[in-house]
Parts: sequence; structure tokens; C-alpha cells
Amino acid sequence: MKNLVKLFSVLAVGLFISVSAFAKQVVLVGTNAEFAPFEYLEKNEIVGFDIDLLNAISKETGIEFKIKDMAFDGLLPALQTKKVDLVIAGMTATPEREKTVLFSKPYFTAKQVIITKKNNNTLKSFDDLSGKKVGVMLGFTGDTVVSEIKGAKVERFNAAYAAIMALSQGKIDAIVLDSEPAKKYIANSKDLIIADVPAEEEDYAIAVRKTDKDLIEKINTAVDSLKANGEYDKILKKYF
Ligand code: GLN
Repeated sequence: MKNLVKLFSVLAVGLFISVSAFAKQVVLVGTNAEFAPFEYLEKNEIVGFDIDLLNAISKETGIEFKIKDMAFDGLLPALQTKKVDLVIAGMTATPEREKTVLFSKPYFTAKQVIITKKNNNTLKSFDDLSGKKVGVMLGFTGDTVVSEIKGAKVERFNAAYAAIMALSQGKIDAIVLDSEPAKKYIANSKDLIIADVPAEEEDYAIAVRKTDKDLIEKINTAVDSLKANGEYDKILKKYF
């Protein structure tokens, strides 16, 4: 009898160990699904380049990602307070953000562009926005860029479509936004264009807490192999 109890406890411990060894690592992800083609809603589902990249990383690493949609300026606070463990949101790895989070290797290069009305295309550089009412999205890198232009009147919006509407209605003169989402936003509009002015390049990267070095290393390794085995290019082709 005693031996039977022993046998069962050994089996139980063994089972426990194997279950924990095979249990998937679950990582909570924060994004802001208003940034096509990187993340946006399609039939109530979050889709986009970043989501496909995340799914491919999941296949490489075995990590299970659970995605939560939230306001862009709430993403890094949510990471710090452990409401999420990882942020992927077309987020630019800026030196300012690098003070508080750990970024992966860059996975996409972008830049800021100016959206303006077709009949108002006199803009040759960001400095030409001086004296103009310029729409930006709260907390985006475009906000930082425009805030540094002397004489520009910054108008902060919570959503890009609201800024686009204000521009169409002539309430503001221009919008500064990331290049790819800007193209998407003006695609359906007859009166707006992109003034492609010289701009610094920005690198999008995945963010985790400073203490999660292991996680970011797994992600970097996975992204490297996705680039080497052609999967990354497939995702790129799908969206661009
Ligand atoms: N790349 C910009 C930033 O990091 C905008 C990102 C976004 O809106 N998702 O601020």
C-alpha cells in the first residue's frame, strides 16, 4: 500500500513537471488598432502587419500572444504596470522611450510625412509648418516633431480620422503622421495629398519591460530567422 502511494506521488510529480515544461509561455500584448496597415480592425478582429509578424514569432518561439487593444498613449504605462508584457504598435524606438523600456531590433523603417490639402501644397520642409495649425496624434512621434517647429500651432487629436476630418473641413492646415498610415488615410480622399518632405528615418520596434531581457532575446532571434527564411518578406509583400 505504502509503495502504491509512493508510486502515485512519483507519477503525480512527474506529470506536474512535464505539464509545466510543455505549458506555453503566455505573453500579454498591447496594441492600438488604429494604425493601418500595421494594426487595425477588420470585422471586429485586430489584423495587420504587426499582428502577422507576432503570429510568425509565435510559431518560431512557441510563445502564445494575447492581444489587447488600447489607446496609444496608454501602451507604455500598461507595460510598466504589468497590464501587458509586450507592446507592438508601429512604435518608434525613440531615445526618450528607451529610457523606460527595452526595444527589440528594428523591424520596419518609417518616417513622418505631412498631409495637406491638394490646393495648398506649398510645403517643402517641416519648417514651412511654422505659423500653421498642425494636427498630430497625442503622444505619437509626429507630436514631438511638430512641437519642435518654432511657430507651429500644435493641435492634438486622440484619433487620426478626427484629424483628417478637421483637415478636410479646413479647421487645421496640415497633419504630421507616419508615412504608411498617412497613405492609407488619404487613399479614399479626393482633396488630400502627402507632401513628401525630407524627414529623419524612424525605426519601429517591439517593446518589453527592462527586466525582460530573455523575452526580447527570443524575439530578436525569431525576427532574425523570419528575415532569413523569407517569412518576413512574405508578410511585407502582403501589406506593402
Ligand atoms: N510611430 C509613431 C510613434 O511611435 C506612431 C505609432 C502609432 O500610432 N501606433 O509614435
